[in-house]
Formats: sequence, C-alpha cells, structure tokens
Amino acid sequence: MTPDRFLSRLRTEAAGCRACPLWRHATQTVFGEGKTPATVMLVGEQPGNEEDVQGRPFVGPAGMLLERALDEAGMGRDEVYVTNAVKHFKWEPRGKRRIHKTPAQREIDACNRWLNAEIEAVKPRLIVCLGATAGRAVLGHAVRIGVLRGTVYSATGRPEQQIAVTYHPAYILRQRDPDRFAETYQEFVSDLRAAAHVLEEPGRRAPLLQRPTVAHRPSA
Ligand code: SF4
Repeated sequence: MTPDRFLSRLRTEAAGCRACPLWRHATQTVFGEGKTPATVMLVGEQPGNEEDVQGRPFVGPAGMLLERALDEAGMGRDEVYVTNAVKHFKWEPRGKRRIHKTPAQREIDACNRWLNAEIEAVKPRLIVCLGATAGRAVLGHAVRIGVLRGTVYSATGRPEQQIAVTYHPAYILRQRDPDRFAETYQEFVSDLRAAAHVLEEPGRRAPLLQRPTVAHRPSA
C-alpha cells in the first residue's frame, strides 16, 4: 500500500475514534497533512478552535506564524508533514468562546496510536516537536523546552529519526512583551534552521536525548 493510501485509510479510521472522551465536544478529527513521504514531520499539541472548524492542522494564527518561521528557516510548508499529538480539540467554555485546554497524559497516550501510524507512513528523517505535549507524545516522557531546544538529538525509542524540540508557535503568540515575542520567535526560527541544517549532514552523530531522572513540569 502506498504511504498516501495508508494515510488516507488512517484518516478515515481516526474520524470514528472514540478511544478517549475528547471526540464528544469537538467538531471533527483533525488529522495531519502534507508531503508523504516527507523528510521532516512537525508535531504540535492539538487542533485549536480554527483547526477544529476547518478540519485541518495549523490553519489558525499559530499556523500562520509557523508558516512564516518555516519560510525564514528555508523550509516550505508544502515540503513537510504537519500533525498534532492529539487529534481532537480539547476546550472549555468561557462566555461564547472556546478556550484551549491542555490534553491530559491519558489523552496523549490514547491518541499515540494515530501519531505512531503517521510516523510509520510518512517515514520522516527528522521529527520537530512543537512544545512540551508533542515532545512527550513523541519521546514518551516529559521534556523541558528551555533545556532541550537548539540541538537535534537521537532517541532510543525512535531509531529511524532525529528529534528536535522547540516552542509551539502558540506559546510565542502568548508573549505579550514585544521584546520577548521577538526573542522567542527568533529562537524558534533558529531551531528550525538548525534542524533543517542537520539533514545536510548525513554522517552526523546526533547526541542521545536522555530521559530525565527527576519528574518536572514542562515549560512551553
Ligand atoms: S483525541 Fe485521539 S484518541 Fe481521543 S478520541 Fe480523538 S482521535 Fe481518538
């Protein structure tokens, strides 16, 4: 079966997934999309309000920022595959608005079968984890973005891929201070650029990403 057909079948199956309660209050499953197979796969957290309505990943404000950063880093969005760790929008009401709520570990775990199947179909050489939830879903343990970002790693559980961890673009958008916004955005572009650069070094030995020995809260 071709990767495209495999993904198409997964997308159809995931549309009927009831493995955790998140489907109940979401409009639809938001599956990944992009080049298949692709050298680079970007993994975010979960669909936001706009993605939930449109049924496509990274089409809201965070997606626009991601696209701009990818462009500056020398990667076109049409050259990569983008997806989320969790395929349904988790939210809570605030007046008439639907406010994002971070998925729980059990929801990340329940949705991991879809992410792993996408990785199997897309066969990326590099997975860029956008934020702590993505890092946790891809690596199977908590990550600290501020500690890990800026380097591309190998990971024992993912022998086929190199792994980069950076900010989620929504985190950058939440920076109210203009200087802090500019700083995190430049760090984000720099991380994407560094990740793209390692793909041009096939003989590179990536440092092994160690699983943390002390439990800690993810930072971004
Ligand atoms: S969030 Fe993932 S595991 Fe939960 S119902 Fe949706 S597709 Fe299934």
